Amino acid sequence: MMEAYLYDALDDQKVMCNLCNHRCIIKDGRRGICGVRENRRGTLETLVYGKLIARNIDPIEKKPLYHLLPSSLSYSIATVGCNFRCLFCQNADIAQMPSDRNGMITGNDYTPEEIVTDAVKGGCKTISYTYTEPTVFFEFAYDTAKLAGAKGIQNIFVTNGYMTAEALKMINPYLDAANVDLKAFNEDFYKTYCGAKLEPVKETLKLMKSLGIFVEVTTLLIPGLNDDKKELESLAAFLADDLGSETPWHISRFHPTYKLTDRPSTPVATLLAAREIGIRAGLKYVYTGNVPGENGEKTFCYKCGKILIDRWGFYVRENLVKDNRCSYCGAQIHGVGL
Ligand code: SF4
Repeated sequence: MMEAYLYDALDDQKVMCNLCNHRCIIKDGRRGICGVRENRRGTLETLVYGKLIARNIDPIEKKPLYHLLPSSLSYSIATVGCNFRCLFCQNADIAQMPSDRNGMITGNDYTPEEIVTDAVKGGCKTISYTYTEPTVFFEFAYDTAKLAGAKGIQNIFVTNGYMTAEALKMINPYLDAANVDLKAFNEDFYKTYCGAKLEPVKETLKLMKSLGIFVEVTTLLIPGLNDDKKELESLAAFLADDLGSETPWHISRFHPTYKLTDRPSTPVATLLAAREIGIRAGLKYVYTGNVPGENGEKTFCYKCGKILIDRWGFYVRENLVKDNRCSYCGAQIHGVGL
């Protein structure tokens, strides 16, 4: 346990947490929405510093990041807790543990030094703060990222994008890349199915781009909830116009899970139609996820149309990008270390 970063002391021993856009006002003895930050007599404490529930070495393609150091390994860590309540959460057993299991917090203790040493030993070029929401274990992510950066390891947030501008600006010197979930493009969806708001996520995405953080975006398409053609057209236009046409967009397949079991898996045809919408909006790199073997997991040159990075699931079979250029026509292929 340690004192949290980014909070204000208020009257009557209350505090306001400024880490994410919920900006919870927390009374003495209570926790914020994420269930991992607690007010103890007017001091906000993080309950998950170094308490890791998951620690794996993954291919970077699994994050998913397709345009950052392809076929490299990413040391991936998480604590329990999340500031969203997505009914379709794919990692609910760890992300929603505090809220679903009476405040339960568990994990094994590590220091930032141990994580960075292990990442170096494992041949990882990056550390990913992932599986649950890294914003809620910000203090440990920040300390680890700072140390990792000094060792030449890049840092990645796989995030719902709900952190405040203050939090993002604080970690910005050490945060190289992010995959941000843009879960839908309507406020009702965010409110009803995630317990959050859309607008702050859009602001985070724009701020990340302006700070020079490399960004890829993921949208999980859920039949009947966020797959409306017009909504997807608006979402794709936002990505192309506000973030830039070079922003990779991953459209991912839903399978019934957690509290959302009343609808089928996303039809492959819906994913392919969404991919076409992205391409028509001007996006250069649009992918379909959770559908191994589809063309939508390959990188095509947006100029000459040739296949440049051939993937199967998370694995790269062939990479014909040379120094960020198409090896056929010389077009610039956007990303880091391609
Ligand atoms: S991180 Fe977000 S959800 Fe958690 S206490 Fe702070 S403001 Fe509330």
